[in-house]
Amino acid sequence: MDHEGAVLWRTLGICFAVIGVCELAWPAYRLRKPLERRWGVHVVLFALGNVLVLATVPLSGVAVALAVEHSRFGLFNQSVLPFWMRCAAGILVLDLARYGTHRLMHTTPWLWRIHLLHHTDTEIDLTTGLRFHPLEAWVAGIVGLGVIAATAIPPAGVFLFEMMVQFQAVAAHANSSLPPRLERICRPFFITPDLHRIHHSIKEADQGRNLGVLFPWWDRWFATYRDVTVVESKAMNFGLADFPATKALHLPYLLATPFVKLPSPDGAVPEPVSRRA
Ligand SMILES: [Zn+2]
Repeated sequence: MDHEGAVLWRTLGICFAVIGVCELAWPAYRLRKPLERRWGVHVVLFALGNVLVLATVPLSGVAVALAVEHSRFGLFNQSVLPFWMRCAAGILVLDLARYGTHRLMHTTPWLWRIHLLHHTDTEIDLTTGLRFHPLEAWVAGIVGLGVIAATAIPPAGVFLFEMMVQFQAVAAHANSSLPPRLERICRPFFITPDLHRIHHSIKEADQGRNLGVLFPWWDRWFATYRDVTVVESKAMNFGLADFPATKALHLPYLLATPFVKLPSPDGAVPEPVSRRA
């Protein structure tokens, strides 16, 4: 494993440990499903996504950035702007690309079929950040590499972005909330767990809200932002209304979701609001 990969894996491990402790100490909800089953399914999905990406596109973002660093055609490798500014602009562009990809996944039928797995979770905790169909990991990886190759974002900017995304994938799905004062301070600048949670609401209209990964600015500019209150965020049900809730942790069924016609709901509805911790 190269140094970049080792640092990213270590970052993910530290994020899991820190946010896991926060979830245990200050949970937003009481989780009902067996933790080992949830975590097991989510870790397998995450591993399959990584295997698919590594087997088909064995290139890291930093490796692509290094390859195009001296290209004549890049945008962010020109020395017109200071280095730190090119890194910051690159991070913004990569986050915007993530927002755009996520939005397309909600509006394009064939992309929705590979993204819906993420929304079938009827409970939200830090491992929901690992719960993606392997094909979604592949599409997101290809888009990211394409943006880096086309714009020649400095390798340091790419590395910083990847570290931030590792943290945010876990933090945005945390079954915990920031203290109210910190929530007010952070919300204008970062997607907080309470802000992202509404995106997993069972209400279809809310699923098109707060699509951003790192920053909430794209949602504000493109009119997909919803400024949910912490109380409201804790009082919602999660999942997809037309997805059989009993299959939410059925791994073969989840992997087949892009390719099969989903049956009508089996009557299993998400737990009521009373599950609030
Ligand atoms: Zn989504």
